[in-house]
Amino acid sequence: MPERPTAVVFNDPALAGAILTIDLDAVRENYRRLKTRLGSAQCAAVVKANGYGLGAVEIAKALRGEGCQDFFVAHVGEGLSLRSALGSGPAIYVLNGLPPGSEDEAANASLVPVLNSLEQLAAWRATAHRLSRKLPAALQVDSGMSRLGMAPSEVDQLAGDANAFHGLDIVLVMSHLACADEPEHSANELQRQSFEALRSKLPAARASFANSSGIFLGKPFHFDLARPGVALYGANPTPGKENPMLPVVRLEAKVIQTREIGDGVGIGYGHAARARLDMRLATVSLGYADGWHRNAAGAAWFKGVRLPFAGRVSMDSIILDISALGQGVLKAGDLVEFIGPDQDVDDVAGFAGTIAYEILTGLGDRFERKYLGA
Ligand SMILES: *Cc1c(COP(=O)(O)O)cnc(C)c1O
Repeated sequence: MPERPTAVVFNDPALAGAILTIDLDAVRENYRRLKTRLGSAQCAAVVKANGYGLGAVEIAKALRGEGCQDFFVAHVGEGLSLRSALGSGPAIYVLNGLPPGSEDEAANASLVPVLNSLEQLAAWRATAHRLSRKLPAALQVDSGMSRLGMAPSEVDQLAGDANAFHGLDIVLVMSHLACADEPEHSANELQRQSFEALRSKLPAARASFANSSGIFLGKPFHFDLARPGVALYGANPTPGKENPMLPVVRLEAKVIQTREIGDGVGIGYGHAARARLDMRLATVSLGYADGWHRNAAGAAWFKGVRLPFAGRVSMDSIILDISALGQGVLKAGDLVEFIGPDQDVDDVAGFAGTIAYEILTGLGDRFERKYLGA
């Protein structure tokens, strides 16, 4: 690893503009809650995209302590770094499969590729032959999402080919739900039936179907191994109902300065807002470069008081209307809450017109990151 230039000290707590706190005890509790729902089925953890932005290694280590044996990443590079952090033992599955040329490295790190196409299957079979050893694999079938996995016609082709899996140990057959967060959607049951039919044509292996929301569709959707991601990180897997998970993330930004402004004065870029009489403002050290969407007009909180945004979100700062606070209550250096007890990650996603997944994975790298329960 090349050494970092010493002038770049983003993670120095004294210098960061905002603090991201990740509660690993809450992640552990969320894992236990999902396991309780699953009953006899096992529970993996999806830690792709650096653990949805929260730190794949920290999350995976915490869940190892809860007995989690199966981790899913999206990219082979994510799998390699997770393997070196966790050591041998847990299974690490690569959801996107292996890009051509990465097979040997993946085999050496005992990664389990999710084979999504006949091409990926052929390449992994060839790798097993070349290395003269049996290699583990997961097979993904397309039960109706049309994203990744073998089509039903390809499954039929494989079922009729005695050599299709030669040299491979098929450890998992999986598929993914398109509409799991809409429990009434008819596609859920159709996909479930399609998955049942497809896997019956393939070698006997553990079956995996449910993501976070899929776990809440009930026992017929659980199969042998569930693959939750976002619910572990505190987002609501049951939209429209009370969130059954504990919050995991807290995001607080520092006040840079406060000011009083005169009636009618323009505020921020484009003068998109104008001051009212006796208005007080605070500018805080968080902006769209930190993953707060520019169009996510919303509010921050200080000691339970809502502080609405004034004007546009800038790259590195946001201006807050702090008139609701007494004079001098908020000072430079104080922390205001952007994600936390007063507004959760799903609320913030609502401001941005997106989903909690995108908010979490978009969280920037200029924060001081604190792990509770490490
Ligand atoms: C991302 C992903 C998951 C996890 O989904 P959540 O909705 O975050 O629980 C599970 N399976 C596959 C195939 C995925 O791509």
